[in-house]
Amino acid sequence: MLKVHSIETLGTQEGPGIRFLLFLQGCNVRCIYCHNPDTWVIGAGKDYSVKDIVKLVEKQKEYFGDEGGITVSGGEPLVQRKELIGLFKALKKKKIHTALDTNGMIFDEFTVELLKYADLTLLDIKHIDPVWQKKVTGMTSDAPIKIAEHLEKTGKKFWIRYVLVPGYTDKEEFILKTAEFFKDYKCLERLEILPFHTLGKEKYEKLGIDYPCKGISPPSEKAVQKTKKLFERYLKDVYVR
Ligand code: SF4
Repeated sequence: MLKVHSIETLGTQEGPGIRFLLFLQGCNVRCIYCHNPDTWVIGAGKDYSVKDIVKLVEKQKEYFGDEGGITVSGGEPLVQRKELIGLFKALKKKKIHTALDTNGMIFDEFTVELLKYADLTLLDIKHIDPVWQKKVTGMTSDAPIKIAEHLEKTGKKFWIRYVLVPGYTDKEEFILKTAEFFKDYKCLERLEILPFHTLGKEKYEKLGIDYPCKGISPPSEKAVQKTKKLFERYLKDVYVR
């Protein structure tokens, strides 16, 4: 059984084409800018079997066209990576395009097995510097880099997602370091910049959790464009979402 937070149909932002979006419940980190704190608790959510989900996805298949499919997001999908292997295997049997939207903070044999069945991985690089990674997520891990290296080695396509948060992820030095690190990656299809926004604020109030981004405003258009240019010094497909 998979613990599901929510489902959206006809998504257009989480991977290529039109997508069925499966948001799994549970997350292993606490990003300061998270706009979905309601997905954090591990073990909550609604139970869905692999069969239930495959059935729902198949109903949408006619809308997927050449590029679309399913994107599994969260929360953090790798929390349920063992169960997800079965889902991705079943979807591949039905020739459905599978994308995994992940913070990449768990790298073990089950992650490796799951990645075999992911046609595309949307990999967050929260911060290239371990000290800042901890400030942004609450923990330090080299797993995202290991996942990127693994994807490159096994010839599996991936995108990087980079959340631009003023005062945390906007320093020129680290943006250039990130871009340079990935410059020779052939399997990296694009890097997406996600400008920080404050849309999740009310959810924190409802849950009675202190809002960690008090006083932080979304980056200006100028700052977003500057970041894009910095990434473009080393990478060619850089987009703002
Ligand atoms: S990994 Fe995603 S769900 Fe988890 S805290 Fe960060 S932004 Fe929120």
